[in-house]
Amino acid sequence: MSEGNASLPPGSTIGILGGGQLGRMMAVAALQLGYRVIGYAPPGDNVAADVCSDFFHKAWGDAEALAAFAQKCDIITWEFENVPVQTVEALPQDRLHPHPRALETAQDRLREKQFASEHGARPAPFASAETESDFKDAIERIGAPGILKTARDGYDGKGQWRVRSAQDAQAIRFPGQACVYEGFVDFDAEFSVILVRGQDGETRFWASPANVHDDGMLTSSTVPAGDTIDAMVEEARAIAGKVAEALGYVGVLTLEFFATKDGPVFNEMAPRVHNSGHWTIEGAATSQFENHIRAICGLPLGSTDTRFGWVEMRNIVGPDALTAHAMLSEKGEPHLHLYGKADAKEGRKMGHVTRVSHKRQTG
Ligand code: AMP
Repeated sequence: MSEGNASLPPGSTIGILGGGQLGRMMAVAALQLGYRVIGYAPPGDNVAADVCSDFFHKAWGDAEALAAFAQKCDIITWEFENVPVQTVEALPQDRLHPHPRALETAQDRLREKQFASEHGARPAPFASAETESDFKDAIERIGAPGILKTARDGYDGKGQWRVRSAQDAQAIRFPGQACVYEGFVDFDAEFSVILVRGQDGETRFWASPANVHDDGMLTSSTVPAGDTIDAMVEEARAIAGKVAEALGYVGVLTLEFFATKDGPVFNEMAPRVHNSGHWTIEGAATSQFENHIRAICGLPLGSTDTRFGWVEMRNIVGPDALTAHAMLSEKGEPHLHLYGKADAKEGRKMGHVTRVSHKRQTG
C-alpha cells in the first residue's frame, strides 16, 4: 500500500448486510484476501451463512443485534439493496461503504430516475402513480404500451404489470402502494455498465455484457455484447461514472440500460454487485466481488480486463438446479456455481454457469 492509504489489514472482519448468493460470493472473495466475514439478515434461507464465521439471523429493526454485529466489524457493506435505510444509518458511518445515500436513491424508482436524469441519463417517459387515478392520468399522458411498477421493493420482474393498451389497464388491480408508470421501450438489446470505484475516486469498468431477460428476470449475460451495444457503451459509462461520483460511491455499482436506435435508455441502478456481473468471476482479471471487497477495504483495485474472447453466464433457475452437474459436460469450459439454497422452487435463482472460450460457442 502507498503511504497514508488506510487499508484494512488481513485478519480484519467484514460485515455484510444480506444473506443471499451475492453475499456468499462476496464472502468467498473476502476470505481469499485474508478477511473474516460476518453476515446479518432476517431469518430465512441465508446461504451466505455457509461461508461466514458468524451470522446474525436477526430482524433489520433489532437495534441491539445491529449494535452487537457492528461491534464485531471493521468495515460493513451490503449485498441486498432493500436493506432499510434506517438500518444502515444506525451503523457506524465511518465503517460503512457505500454511503447510505446510494441505497436511498436506488430503493425508490422515482427518485432513482430523477437522480440519474440529473446526471445525464435518459430514462423512458415516466410518471409517479400514487393512486389509481394518477395511474389513469399517467396512461393518458404517456400512452400505452407501458409498465406499471411499484416504486419500492420490486426485483426480478416482481411488482410489475404490463399495460398493452389503455383498456388493458382496467384489468389491473392497482397495488396498495406508490408506483411509477413508464412507457414501454422499443429496444434492440439490453446491457449493463458495471463499475468499481475506490475510496480515492479511481473508477474502473468491466466490459458491458448483453443481458437477456425472460419475464423480467435475467437469464443470460454475454461478453462481447455485440456492435449495437458496444457503440453506446461509452455514453452509458459516462453517465454511470457521473452517478457514482455524485453518490461519493465506494464499491461496485451497476446501471442497466436499453440499447435503442436513439442510444442508451436508462432503466435502473443497483448499488451493489449484480447478477449481470457474475461472468467476471472466470471471465475477467478481477471479479466484481473481489473488486468490491478491495474498494471497501482500501486496497488497490484489480484489473477489469476481459480474459477471453467470449464469456457467457446463464442463470440456473428453479428445479433445473437439481440436474445442474450435467452442465459440466457442456462445451466452452463450463464453471458451475450453485448457491446452496434449500428449495429449488420455480422462478428462484439457484445458481449460474459461466462458459469461457477464445471464440464464440454455439449450443
Ligand atoms: P426492471 O425490474 O425494471 O429492471 O425490469 C426487468 C425487465 O423488464 C427489464 O430488464 C426489461 O427486460 C423489462 N422492462 C422493464 N421496464 C421496461 C420498459 N419500460 N420497456 C421495456 N421493457 C422493460
